[in-house]
Amino acid sequence: MAIPITITCECGRAIQTDLGERVVCECGRAYDTSQVPREKRAAVVAAQTQFRVYMWFGILFIAGAAVTGYLVHGMVGLLLAAPCVALFWFRVVQPRVSARQRKALADLPSWTIEAG
Ligand SMILES: [Zn+2]
Repeated sequence: MAIPITITCECGRAIQTDLGERVVCECGRAYDTSQVPREKRAAVVAAQTQFRVYMWFGILFIAGAAVTGYLVHGMVGLLLAAPCVALFWFRVVQPRVSARQRKALADLPSWTIEAG
């Protein structure tokens, strides 16, 4: 699974890459991002996994509401329940999860990779 990271080179350029890749800056310095400490890598992967779990939970939540609406009120119930729950999920729950996710990733200490 690709984990996007940004490397700030000693020359000041920011290089976008995936964790584990070897990148060469325009100035000639090379960085091997597989040197990233394992526990930091694990923390990033854990945060990504958690986010996927939330996403699936949301999909099931919306599908469940649609089915419940259908069972209780038939087609009308489905057409009313699904958009309401989807709206609730994407307007209320999702932004909070995303914000927490961003914060969790921002809290990860940054690390220094020596040019090699
Ligand atoms: Zn550079």
